[in-house]
Amino acid sequence: MTRYNMSESEMPSAWFNILPRLATPMDPPLHPGTREPVTPDDLAPLFPMALIMQEMSPEPWIDIPGPVLDILRLWRPTPLVRAERLEKMLDTPARIYFKDESVSPAGSHKPNTAVPQAYYNKMEGINRLTTETGAGQWGTALSFATAQFDMECMVYMVRASFEQKPYRKIMMEVWGGNVVPSPIDDPSNPGSLGAAISDAVRDCVQRDDSHYALGSVLNHVLLHQTVIGLEARDQLRAAGEELPDVVIAPCGGGSNLGGIAFPFVPDESVRLVAVEPSACPTLTQGRFEYDFGDVAGMTPLMPMYTLGADFMPPSIHAGGLRYHGDSPIISKLVHEGRMEAVAINQGKVFDAAIKFANAEGKVPAPECGHGIAVAIDEALAAKESGEEKVILFNYCGHGHLDLAAYDEYLSGRMVDV
Ligand SMILES: *Cc1c(COP(=O)(O)O)cnc(C)c1O
Repeated sequence: MTRYNMSESEMPSAWFNILPRLATPMDPPLHPGTREPVTPDDLAPLFPMALIMQEMSPEPWIDIPGPVLDILRLWRPTPLVRAERLEKMLDTPARIYFKDESVSPAGSHKPNTAVPQAYYNKMEGINRLTTETGAGQWGTALSFATAQFDMECMVYMVRASFEQKPYRKIMMEVWGGNVVPSPIDDPSNPGSLGAAISDAVRDCVQRDDSHYALGSVLNHVLLHQTVIGLEARDQLRAAGEELPDVVIAPCGGGSNLGGIAFPFVPDESVRLVAVEPSACPTLTQGRFEYDFGDVAGMTPLMPMYTLGADFMPPSIHAGGLRYHGDSPIISKLVHEGRMEAVAINQGKVFDAAIKFANAEGKVPAPECGHGIAVAIDEALAAKESGEEKVILFNYCGHGHLDLAAYDEYLSGRMVDV
C-alpha cells in the first residue's frame, strides 16, 4: 500500500495541547508598553476570548467545535503517503512517509487554523478580520475560511509579492477577500511580514467590528494544526509502524512543524527536526530573548528565537519562511534540546524538490522543499549506516503557484543563498 487514508469518522475530534505536557511552564508574553505579562483583557481588542483562552489553556485536549469539523471534512483526513518511489530512487533501507496537507482548498496546511479562527470570531459577533500575508498562502487560507462564515476579510499583502505574484491575490479575491499592498503609506517600500502585521493590527484596533488573525507563531495556531500529527500517528500505525524515528518539517513561524511534531513530543525516542532557510536562520543563528512580532512594536513581546524585529531577509522563494521570529513553544523545545534545527540553502531545496517531483509526481512549495531536502539527507544517512529508519515529513503545500521560482532554478538564474 502507498496511501493510508482514514475515514471521515476517524478524524480527530479534539486538538492536542502541548502546554500542560511541557517539562517547565512557558514564560508569558509581555505587554509592549508596560512590559508586564499580558492579560486576556489586553488581547481582547485583537482576538476572541475563546482563542485567548486557548493561548494559555492547561487542558490536555480541546474539543474541535462541530461546525469547524464540518468544514475541515471538505479535505480532511488528509492522506499519509509512503514515498516508495523516492526510497527506490535513493536506494535507501529507510521507509519514508509524508503527510499530504497540500490537498486543502488553499493548497497548504493553513486552513486548519483559518477555519477555527474565523469560527470563534463569528461566534463572538465579529464580522470582519484583518491579517497580513507574505507570499499569499495565509491570506488565501483566511479568505477561504471567512467566506465559509460569511465574514469580510482584509489582507495586507507584502508589496513585493503583491506586485510579482498576482495569482494568490486573485485566489483571495475569488473567495471575497480584499487585498492591499503593504506598507500602505509607502508605495516605494517592498515591504516585509513584520510591517504588514503592523498595518493589519493598526486597522483592527481602529474599528469595533474587526479582529485580527495570525497564521502562525501563536500557541492557538499551533494547537489547531495538531490534527496533522494526530492523524499521522494513527495512519503510521495502520501502515504497521510503531513510531517514526524522525519527524521533519520546514519552520517559518512554526505552525506546520508544531502541527505534525507536537503529538510526538512525549515519545522521547522520536527525533524532531525543524528546517529553515540559511537566508533567514532564526533557530540556528538567532538569539533566544523577548522580541516584538512586528516592526512597529505594537504586538506583545514574546520569548523566542529572533533575528531582530527589523531584520530584513533576502527575497528567497520560500516566502513563508521569511520571518524574523518563531513560535515561543518551538523556540523553547529547541532551546531545551528536545527539537533539532538545521538551515539549508535554496539551491539544495530546489534540487530536492525536483528529485521528489520526479519520483512521486507532486510539485512541492519551496517551503515544503526544505523538509524534503532534510528527509532525503536522513534517508541517505540510513543507507550509509544500513538502518531501516522510519522518516515522516510534512508535505505542507504544493508549488503550483511557485512555478516562476522553478523556472529560475531550471534556467540557472537562481542565487543559491
Ligand atoms: C506558511 C507556510 C509555511 C511556513 O509557516 P509555518 O507556520 O512555519 O508552517 C510553510 N509551508 C507552507 C506551504 C506555507 O504555506
